Amino acid sequence: MTLEIERFEGAVMAVNSYLIHAPEGIVVVDGQLTVSDATALRDRITATGKPLVAMVVTHPHPDHYAGAKIVAGDSVPIYATAAVAEVIRRDDAEKDAIVGPMMGEEWPTTRRFPDHQGEDGSTLHLAGLDLTVEDAGPGESHADSRWKIGDDWFTGDLVCHDVHAYLADGHFQRWLESLDRLLSEIDGETRLHVGHGEPTDRGAVTGQRAYISAFVDAVTANSTLDPDERAAAVVETMDRLVDDDRLRFLMELSIEPVAERLSAATKQDLGS
Ligand SMILES: [Zn+2]
Repeated sequence: MTLEIERFEGAVMAVNSYLIHAPEGIVVVDGQLTVSDATALRDRITATGKPLVAMVVTHPHPDHYAGAKIVAGDSVPIYATAAVAEVIRRDDAEKDAIVGPMMGEEWPTTRRFPDHQGEDGSTLHLAGLDLTVEDAGPGESHADSRWKIGDDWFTGDLVCHDVHAYLADGHFQRWLESLDRLLSEIDGETRLHVGHGEPTDRGAVTGQRAYISAFVDAVTANSTLDPDERAAAVVETMDRLVDDDRLRFLMELSIEPVAERLSAATKQDLGS
């Protein structure tokens, strides 16, 4: 039996949610960033004629949880790992202060947080489906996770497919290790339902690895420039790897945080 999985991509922000058609209704993966994208997702779920039974949040970035209340209302359970839920609760006020003004009226002013826990390594029975959840540790975000139904893996932003990525949380080394672990576990049959870009397969994991290394190398190579010159040089390098520029701003937002982290690491190595 093939599982019906629909991808919903936001129009204001190109972020994916997935409608999993389970035997007893819809399980939706991730909740969109903006009011209009979350509303469109809710309408799409309603149009299936099936009840929304549960939401899963893959990681604590606002483009994946801020619209959750609009999509899931007040009572549909929202599942996440303990680490994902904890980081959302810890950082939401900061996201509200930073992302809120960037989004203006599109920012969901009331937000729901995950209220049901998916324990690492456990299998949850949601809407008649078995979903296995794994805590993936820090990587693209402070707390990544993976949700699996057979060969269908929902990996959040661990893999962003043919689009720019966000590296400002600074865990690039852990992210590379997490991708190596993923590569060792999946095979040619695995379908990766990613946080940004088209669903993909194993090849995109190698691509994501190369993208992260190229970014860190470009920031390192331009570390002595002033921030504007550094940004221009890094963007030029990274634009050669990705044609789709819709999420370039995420990569641009990552340049100075990563430059600072690399510089702090160098000073530490020198013992200062
Ligand atoms: Zn994202």
